[in-house]
Amino acid sequence: MPAKKKTEDVDKKPATSKKIAAKKAAPVKKPATKTTKSTMATATTEKKAPKKTTRKPSTRAKLSAQKPEMPRERRFENKLNSFGGKKKTEFTTEEKLKALYQLQLIQSEIDKIRIVRGELPIEVNDLEDEVAGLETRIQNLSDEAEEVNTLINQKKQLIKDAKDGVKKYEEQQMQVKNNREFESLNKEIEYLQLETQLAEKRIKEYTADYAAKSEVLETSKAALEERIKDLNTKKEELEDIIAETKKDEEQLLKFSDDAAGLIEERLLAAYNRIRTNARNGLAVVTVQRDACGGCFNKIPPQRQIDIKQHKKVIVCEHCGRILVDHEIEI
Ligand SMILES: [Zn+2]
Repeated sequence: MPAKKKTEDVDKKPATSKKIAAKKAAPVKKPATKTTKSTMATATTEKKAPKKTTRKPSTRAKLSAQKPEMPRERRFENKLNSFGGKKKTEFTTEEKLKALYQLQLIQSEIDKIRIVRGELPIEVNDLEDEVAGLETRIQNLSDEAEEVNTLINQKKQLIKDAKDGVKKYEEQQMQVKNNREFESLNKEIEYLQLETQLAEKRIKEYTADYAAKSEVLETSKAALEERIKDLNTKKEELEDIIAETKKDEEQLLKFSDDAAGLIEERLLAAYNRIRTNARNGLAVVTVQRDACGGCFNKIPPQRQIDIKQHKKVIVCEHCGRILVDHEIEI
């Protein structure tokens, strides 16, 4: 190892200690190193990439892909136990930084689970909105169709009444005494005939309208059926995924509480504030290639020396995230 370059040395250290930690916990040596590296690599790429890149592959595939090869619970458990029974008020700055970094790692894992799982509820919500929209539309359409139907029946009744009227006037015409009365009845008859024609015209229009509405109604009903099917499938998928990830999440939440318990209130509040404001949920980041692991701005050499000394909590002057070096991971 003395032949190694300085940078490699820095990289090597956490991995070596991981091995030791793993040895204590279980006889799984190789996967420990592997997992550490891949987890770190995933974390780095995640920072750069936006949360949602493509819709595919399926949520399920993504979930299984991100599963670590070695139980991360054991890793977190060991780390948290390493703080011993020491009071948090007696922590050195270095220990505070270590606790903060563990909290960050644990919460990032929780974030990962929630991001993946978060997409499905949104899809389910969208579908539920769509279903509700279609149901309203169908209700409105059938109300409208019903109204048109009522209008058609009214016009039909009007025609029937007009025909009766015409018959009645024609009978009266037989008994009239003079021309004036006859003409007067003629006018009434003409009027009723005109009304009948108008009503027939309206019936034609209403019938066409009714047919159009019925057609849209049918299409909407078919669409609704389809959406309900989609919705049920998505709901089932969501339930499965929630069940799958629930155990993991609960355990991580417990670790998260434990880690938070190691941090003084004031510092924890600061951490939470930074984390809430950071888009990727990262409040504590490592220095990567002389740059902040959160915003990727260069860190001045003096600041990097300060970070390495673990004497003060140092934040990135660009993004405000708490900066640690790789030693803190141990
Ligand atoms: Zn930064």
